[in-house]
Amino acid sequence: MNHLDFVFSDNIFIEMKITMVGAGYVGLTSAACLAKIGHQVVCVDKDTAKINTLKMGGMPIYEPGLQTIIKETTQSGNLIFDNNIGKAVSDSDVCFIAVGTPPLETGEPDLTGVEEVAREIANTMSDYLLIVEKSTVPVQTGKWIRKTIERYNRNRIPFDVASNPEFLREGSAVYDFLHPDRIVIGVETERARDLLVNVYRAINAPIIVTDIASAELIKHASNAFLAMKISFINAVAAICEAVGADVRQVALGMGMDKRIGRAFLDAGVGYGGFCFPKDLRAFIHIAEETGYNFQLLKEVEKINEDAKKRFVRKIRSVLWNLKGKTIGVLGLAFKPNTDDMRFAPSVDIINALLNEEAKIRAYDPKAMEKAKDLLPGVEFCSGPEEVAINADLLAIITEWEEFKQLNLKRIKNLMRLPIICDGRNIFERSEVEKLGFTYIGVGT
Ligand code: NAD
Repeated sequence: MNHLDFVFSDNIFIEMKITMVGAGYVGLTSAACLAKIGHQVVCVDKDTAKINTLKMGGMPIYEPGLQTIIKETTQSGNLIFDNNIGKAVSDSDVCFIAVGTPPLETGEPDLTGVEEVAREIANTMSDYLLIVEKSTVPVQTGKWIRKTIERYNRNRIPFDVASNPEFLREGSAVYDFLHPDRIVIGVETERARDLLVNVYRAINAPIIVTDIASAELIKHASNAFLAMKISFINAVAAICEAVGADVRQVALGMGMDKRIGRAFLDAGVGYGGFCFPKDLRAFIHIAEETGYNFQLLKEVEKINEDAKKRFVRKIRSVLWNLKGKTIGVLGLAFKPNTDDMRFAPSVDIINALLNEEAKIRAYDPKAMEKAKDLLPGVEFCSGPEEVAINADLLAIITEWEEFKQLNLKRIKNLMRLPIICDGRNIFERSEVEKLGFTYIGVGT
């Protein structure tokens, strides 16, 4: 099939019956948004506790705006939750697989969840079904899903497999799903293409139609490229620090060039989260399997690890010995507006500080529940001011909006030493120094 851009020329909407397997950040957001645009959606997860929470109107994750859409669509009957894939699939036109693909020790993603779902679908489908991989998976996974379904589909029910990678960002997932820059669909047949195009008919975005392997690669290549931009600016930040330049001005000047773009050029303590670290590892691994040594991406990873270590070195350089010192930490989630702690830079940074016997008092607006299991040695506080009490240094790790509004005069009065190590450049050096703080930023 030739690659082509698909643009709608009509406003006809056809309601479809959709199963979304996986009620995580991606599955739950996608299910709710597809229900909001008018489809009948069953969101399925094997985690019974999660499904029960959702059935009772609760939320297993924090994602701005999502609860409102779930409430609206469950009340209208467009969205329901279930534990049973079979029941949902036998009544659906399209089934999305949006289960987790966590990294294994080797760097490969664990695809057992995807296979498990493919087998269940094969065992239970009763009529033609379009099976769509939405999870981020290595190129060739579509082929394995096809093979698995062929093997277990004893009644020879017709089906198609397609790829529809998801580009939403946690923290703005609902907006991103409903207003994407583009929708990528990788298909093998016209029937699959028409069905998927119809799923997204109510969303105003260009649809890129490709073969399945290309769609799978678009996702990995995009995430690797974005991670590369972050590591690039972090490397530039190190040079800025050495020569007294300001990385924010460098990023601004670079970003105004349309060929480069300003996004993902914020220097900081490195990227984290469930996508970039694992997808980069997976892409390096995929490349290796094809015989290509993706040296560039290995360096991107190394610079990212170094960004966390450099932050710890800065703290050490201003406090000298860390043993017994109290460090207040603001922000734990891997980025603002989420409670997601997976691969958050805060975990590595705090563990390095704890290893040197510093005392850590921390606060995050949404991620503390999830952080408690990961950071047992940390004292969790009810807000930034409690964190500041008797702190020898305040470390900003996540750029939550509420930290930008802090009353720094009050914070200074609560601290033992007025030192801020700002891992996200949320403050203006001159203003903070005017208040009497010692200020350390990234590349500034
Ligand atoms: P998640 O861990 O939040 O959710 C995955 C869900 O799948 C869990 O609720 C889990 O119980 C369920 N699950 C696992 N195996 C199952 C099975 N066999 N049957 C039914 N349910 C099962 O993960 P996520 O963040 O939503 O990510 C899902 C996929 O989307 C991953 O491949 C990820 O890389 C990709 N992705 C994530 C993001 C993001 O920002 N989180 C963005 C784009 C793509």
